[in-house]
Amino acid sequence: MDDLFKKLISHAKEYGFIFPSSEIYDGLSAVYDYGQNGVELKNNIKKYWWDSMVLLHENIVGIDSAIFMHPEIWKASGHVGAFNDPLIDNKDSKKRYRADVLIEDYIEKIESKIRKEVTKAAKRFGDSFDEKQFRETNPRVLSNQKKIDEVRARYVKAAENDDLTEIKQIIIDCEIADPVSGSRNWTDVRQFNLMFETKLGSVSDEAASIYLRPETAQGIFVNFLNVQKSGRMRIPFGIAQIGKAFRNEIVARQFIFRMREFEQMEMQYFVKPGEELKWFETWKEKRMKWHKSLGVADNKLRFHDHDKLAHYANAATDIEFEFPIGFKEVEGIHSRTDFDLSQHQEFSGKKLQFYDPESKENYTPFVIETSIGLDRMFLLIMSNAYKEEKVPNAEGKLEERVVLNLPPVLAPVKLAVLPLVRKDGLPEKAREIMDHLKVEFNCQYEEKDSIGRRYRRQDAIGTPYCITVDHQTIRDNSVTIRYRDDMKQDRIPVAKIREIISDKVSFRTALSRLV
Ligand code: ATP
Repeated sequence: MDDLFKKLISHAKEYGFIFPSSEIYDGLSAVYDYGQNGVELKNNIKKYWWDSMVLLHENIVGIDSAIFMHPEIWKASGHVGAFNDPLIDNKDSKKRYRADVLIEDYIEKIESKIRKEVTKAAKRFGDSFDEKQFRETNPRVLSNQKKIDEVRARYVKAAENDDLTEIKQIIIDCEIADPVSGSRNWTDVRQFNLMFETKLGSVSDEAASIYLRPETAQGIFVNFLNVQKSGRMRIPFGIAQIGKAFRNEIVARQFIFRMREFEQMEMQYFVKPGEELKWFETWKEKRMKWHKSLGVADNKLRFHDHDKLAHYANAATDIEFEFPIGFKEVEGIHSRTDFDLSQHQEFSGKKLQFYDPESKENYTPFVIETSIGLDRMFLLIMSNAYKEEKVPNAEGKLEERVVLNLPPVLAPVKLAVLPLVRKDGLPEKAREIMDHLKVEFNCQYEEKDSIGRRYRRQDAIGTPYCITVDHQTIRDNSVTIRYRDDMKQDRIPVAKIREIISDKVSFRTALSRLV
């Protein structure tokens, strides 16, 4: 595992963002708990997503559907029959992998070789560098690209034909080794259903098998008519939902990147058949803008169009972020045709159509879906924010600080209020300031340790502003405000604190950038 990734995991634990679940019992694999700072950050991400959907679009409404659903739903959606991942075991290390992920990682490795080659050349040629031409002519890039294209084509065909023998053959031919042990001693590839099954009711004999939902989207589809009718919604309109999903993932060794219990933020946008590709493009653009609005650099985000479309989709792309473990999916945007509503119509026997008052016809709407993992987004934000820097201390000597450059709107604590000493009325004054501000934003009062150490602790949790209350405060009602990113300090009147901070940390400001 990447060194930075390891540091991030221990930082998240040390500062109350994420703990392994059931830790005192040695943890539970791929299940995590959010701590006191984690839950604030997570709630802020949720709110930013929710408001960007529901507040900013008058034709998008939210719902909160139950985790348990009628078992027929998962037959209609295809999850009972086909929500499988191809798994493969290494006979020497006894580790289990997803065969498709091994192949994806192999491709990513070659892609990163190409990227290195391009960066090197860009440096060498300076302003006159033409990346497109370089990619089209450089022999090493070309031969690597050919390798990628061949493996992709083989994999897509094998996956389409459900040809597990061929998937294993690709792993053998590419000489893919177990990343842990380096061994190439593989079992055959098998399919594994990812849904958790449980029983409903108190008498187990009579109880029906039900599933913990593996995605939130089906709760939206089965409520399509309820929402459309009760909200008198007209096509196009969207339904958004945030909620838990459960998948018995085969490989779950990447912290909160792949969990067995996680949260999704999904929005299904119902459109007129024939208009879906236009809306697909619109949502691609909107969603990328949302990610970039959180201060993620352009070169850390990319679209990755699906090589293999699900049989019901007519366009699909992922938004990928460059995590410390490489470029990986954070969000999927899919044009799902009328597959879901038609399936539920067939399985339930209920008509799920929209009557278009203009054309005076009934039709089954098509769906564009945006589906993002909340925990993965959390990991993106943490990875993007984590910095180790050398900065001068009070004596002017360089020392290391770890800082989370979180977007202020998402930071768990917006303002720390710090009395310089624990006497002379400073704590009382600090509390008075805090009581005035805490109704508006999350403030933290801290009086222990030197002021320098308190600043470091606030940097480590990403607090954008610290206020220091000193003896001068008592005399003239002014405080020192210290800014997290450049560590600059200003003397300001107490009355001005709210004005300076409020705008910077508000959802209002952040959301207006999206309009
Ligand atoms: P992957 O290929 O990584 O398994 P997926 O394509 O199956 O993901 P979707 O079914 O499209 O994922 O789910 C939508 C989003 O939900 C993903 O983009 C991801 O952010 C999130 N997600 C999916 N599975 C997990 C998981 N096990 N843990 C955390 N987040 C997840």
